[in-house]
Amino acid sequence: MNEYKNDQEFLENYGYDINGSWYPRVTKIVEIKAKPALYRFYAQLPSFEHGEAIKEQSAKEGTAVHEAVEAILMDKTDIPTTLSIKPAIDAFLAFKEHLNIAVDPSFVEKRVANAKERYAGTVDALATINGKFGILDIKTSQSAYRDYNLQTAAYMGALRDEFPTLSTRWILRIDQNQTCIKCGSTMRSKGGREKVRLIWKPGDYAVRRKAERCEHEWADPKGDVELVESPVWENDFHAFLGAKRLWEWEHEEILKKIGYL
Ligand SMILES: [Zn+2]
Repeated sequence: MNEYKNDQEFLENYGYDINGSWYPRVTKIVEIKAKPALYRFYAQLPSFEHGEAIKEQSAKEGTAVHEAVEAILMDKTDIPTTLSIKPAIDAFLAFKEHLNIAVDPSFVEKRVANAKERYAGTVDALATINGKFGILDIKTSQSAYRDYNLQTAAYMGALRDEFPTLSTRWILRIDQNQTCIKCGSTMRSKGGREKVRLIWKPGDYAVRRKAERCEHEWADPKGDVELVESPVWENDFHAFLGAKRLWEWEHEEILKKIGYL
C-alpha cells in the first residue's frame, strides 16, 4: 500500500533535496522497522481513524514541546508555550538548571546529509553538555526506546566527518503525567486519549489489587524529564544501513522511477 498520492508527494515527504540530489529521510527509513506495540494501540480503539486522529493530535503536541524546548536551548526570550504542555516545559526548565548545556542556534533543527550512504535528516540540536559535544534528540514519549538509536546513529554517520569532536548522542525525553493521590498509579494524556498505568511493584500484589479497585483521584500534571546518553553508535549505524537497504527494496519501483536507484 502506497502512503503517497503521486511521485511529487513522495519526493517532498520522503526525502530532501540536498544540493540538487534527492536523499531519503532518516525518519522515513527507520519506519521500515515493525512496531508490534502499534497493533496493540490500534486494537484498543474503536476504529483505524480513531488511531490516526490520536497520532495526528499527539504529533502536534510533540511539535509544540520541540518548539518550546528548542527556543529555551537557544536562550530566546519568547518561549512559545501553551497551558497543555506547561508541566513538561516547567520540568525541563528545572532540569536544565542542573545541566551545563550550551547550544549553538545555528545547529538547531540542522539539516544533515550523508553523501556517501545517500540519506538526509534534521537533527534537533548539536549540544555541548558537561564538556561533551554530541547530538541531542528530543522525544516526547514515556520511555527512551531503543529504536531511537537507529535515528541518532544515522545523524552521527552524517556528521562525524564535518565535526570530528562529535563524541556522543543524547535522547532528551520530555513527557508529563498525573499520579493518583490514592494508589500511586499514573495517567498520561496524549493526543486526546487518557491512558492509565496501574502501579506495579514486583512481588507486591496488594499494591496492584488496591490500584485495580481504586477510584483514582488525579493530582495536577507533572513533567517527567530524563537525558539518556548512548556514546557507542557504530553497531546502531550498521543496523540503520540494514534498515535503509530494506526500505530501498520496499520502495524499489518509485525509487527507480525518480532516478534514485
Ligand atoms: Zn488510584
